[in-house]
Amino acid sequence: MKYSTVRPTFRPGIAIAFLLLIIFMSACSNTAENNQKAGIAISFDDHFINDWYALRPLFRKYNAKVTFFITCGDTLTADEIAKLKQLESDGHEIGFHGTVHGKATETIAALGPAKYAETELTPGLHYMKLAGFVPESYAHPGGDHNDQVDSVLLASGFKILRDVAISRRRMFGVQLYALAPRLMSHIFYPFDKEKIVDALLIDTDAGLTIGEMQDAIGKAKETGTALMLFGHQPLHVAPENGAYGFNVAFLEQVLKEAQRQKLRFYTMAELPKN
Ligand SMILES: [Zn+2]
Repeated sequence: MKYSTVRPTFRPGIAIAFLLLIIFMSACSNTAENNQKAGIAISFDDHFINDWYALRPLFRKYNAKVTFFITCGDTLTADEIAKLKQLESDGHEIGFHGTVHGKATETIAALGPAKYAETELTPGLHYMKLAGFVPESYAHPGGDHNDQVDSVLLASGFKILRDVAISRRRMFGVQLYALAPRLMSHIFYPFDKEKIVDALLIDTDAGLTIGEMQDAIGKAKETGTALMLFGHQPLHVAPENGAYGFNVAFLEQVLKEAQRQKLRFYTMAELPKN
């Protein structure tokens, strides 16, 4: 029997080119995967249920899914419960924002973890359950928390805890600091399963511009992260008489830009699941 004398020759050039092609293809698929995940997670806090419900046409127009964090569940009326149910069936999430909207760090220091849970968590969650909601996400009232508070909340089963980030701080009319949102790395969720997160306040007193929001949305797109934002009451005019909230036209510009840059809308509980 005669064996072939033709032996395969090793060509380093071809091998290197092949290797580079594999690296390039895997980099491309990572980028493609990141870009597909790029998104925005918007939430709203407190108890402005009628005002939030009135935003349904706006959410539908941009196919937006958001999260509503409810406090003072004991005062929920049948009408408010029906509206929250409708919002939930539209694809929005109903989260929890405490029973009495208290200062968690002071309560836990004064009363200990068990009494903190009995005061701020158990009663409100009971009212939510009676209304037919089992919240998976928690927003800290007043953005007030520490590791001890977080550990009680996580042990209670919450999948994500949302804190407050503010881009500008003014005191007595003096600006203490101002940060460009795109530079606030902690408001971009990198899909690392993290359960303790910050969202940027978009209320009017935060003084954000649509240019800054376009930049931040662009960063989420480039980096395959989710930009986290939150506000309170929807307002159509400048706030007065102690009102605190965000401008609805501003929110619409954010939604429009997110849609234009093809970002996905996430509810808060969806972030660590993706
Ligand atoms: Zn609040």
